[in-house]
Amino acid sequence: MDSLMQVVNFGPGPAKLPRSVLLELCAGVLSPGLLDNLFPSCEIAQKLGSSFHGLVPLEQALLAVPDNYKVIFVQGGGCGQFSAVPLNLIGLKAGRCADYVVTGSWSAKAAEEAKKFGTVNIVHPKLGSYTKIPDPSTWNLSPDASYVYYCANETVHGVEFDFIPDVKGAVLVCDMSSNFLSKPVDVSKFGVIFAGAQKNVGAAGVTVVIVRDDLLGFALRECPSVLDYKVQAGNNSLYNTPPCFSIYVMGLVLEWIKNNGGAAAMEKLSSTKSRMIYDIIDNSQGFYVCPVEPQNRSKMNIPFRIGNSKGDDALEKRFLDKALELHMISLKGHSTEVTLLSLVRLAPPCSV
Ligand SMILES: *Cc1c(COP(=O)(O)O)cnc(C)c1O
Repeated sequence: MDSLMQVVNFGPGPAKLPRSVLLELCAGVLSPGLLDNLFPSCEIAQKLGSSFHGLVPLEQALLAVPDNYKVIFVQGGGCGQFSAVPLNLIGLKAGRCADYVVTGSWSAKAAEEAKKFGTVNIVHPKLGSYTKIPDPSTWNLSPDASYVYYCANETVHGVEFDFIPDVKGAVLVCDMSSNFLSKPVDVSKFGVIFAGAQKNVGAAGVTVVIVRDDLLGFALRECPSVLDYKVQAGNNSLYNTPPCFSIYVMGLVLEWIKNNGGAAAMEKLSSTKSRMIYDIIDNSQGFYVCPVEPQNRSKMNIPFRIGNSKGDDALEKRFLDKALELHMISLKGHSTEVTLLSLVRLAPPCSV
């Protein structure tokens, strides 16, 4: 079988990479010094950093990052940031307390991790199921909290924010792992944005962190240096060996996003693709069931059941078998709490 045979990969992450990126990658890996020499990846990291800053050559296409922010590339994935965020920020105020919005399994995991380093206040009553965003006007923000944390797109549960919460001037921290660069974002509203590359912008191994510079230098004494934003920012992400290969892949994907119209075009694409599937679900007279409230439905990943709201085992198996015959892979979703059959990864750079 041709290893580059076109399959339609719905896997959440590592997610589908554009075929043209895979082809470029094959040639790139052979070029001397790419993986066995630090300096090319330093150059790429610096170029990427300035790309995010909206400078040449990717002007405006990706993400306009204001001058008072640092862009760093670190290892440890999204989960590493679940620790890095409290380690760097929970000490901003004396009480070591942070506000969390928990709308799915990823923000729940982040809140659990933060409890190791301070007090966590969940700003709304615990949700019985992850199918909606609790109304922000009812959030109980704590005046003593060092920051407010949320996950922009819950990859397992299919709940996505289509707004930036108004947190009354508090430091806002956002996990954008699975909708990063899927739409233009006003970075100035955030204290920290982070995103593991493997969901939307590349391969596993590198995580983008965008941090406002007045938040550097507050890490807890016990914060490991590799996780300390100030240390990484001060060393241009080269405090330790950077993940050269992953940074290289991310560079190619960013170029691809730019060449395909940038974040604004990705937003149109995601709206069109997700609308097609939600329309089928909503017009199926209950044959397909998406548990998420319509106003909070993700444009990146769509969880649904087949047959009824709990899922008919035989029908779901048949669906997956038939999909596989058509080279559609990774349609089976996570099985945390309820077995969700997830149709994931509609996000760029997926060509579904
Ligand atoms: C996948 C994912 C993570 C975890 O990322 P790792 O790189 O596996 O640690 C965190 N947050 C969200 C929203 C994710 O989709």
